[in-house]
Amino acid sequence: MSDKINDCPFCGSSWIETYYDHVECNRCEARGPALDDWDKALRAWNSMPRLEGDDLRRQRSMWASRYLRQRRQRTRAEYERIRAERNSPEAKQARADRKWAAERAAWLARPIDGAAN
Ligand SMILES: [Zn+2]
Repeated sequence: MSDKINDCPFCGSSWIETYYDHVECNRCEARGPALDDWDKALRAWNSMPRLEGDDLRRQRSMWASRYLRQRRQRTRAEYERIRAERNSPEAKQARADRKWAAERAAWLARPIDGAAN
């Protein structure tokens, strides 16, 4: 018996997750049949009808562009989160406090007229 797990029959991904009773594609979430025995589940996955040639290439590029889109959206969400944090009242107060502390320090460090004599 071979333990080799074929690429996903639907999107061609090799990012495959195995469970005790079935095989699943992490990229497109395709699932092999859940069977009572792991060997049977693996055989069932490996013998699922696969896309080939142009069909497989089309499907692969579809998933690749979907992945890139998701990554862009995550980056944008992260950016929005950081911006919201920066504009929060707490952050504004902290900036004002720092500015005030710096002004106060400068004022305390100023030369005092006549003090040197
Ligand atoms: Zn897949």
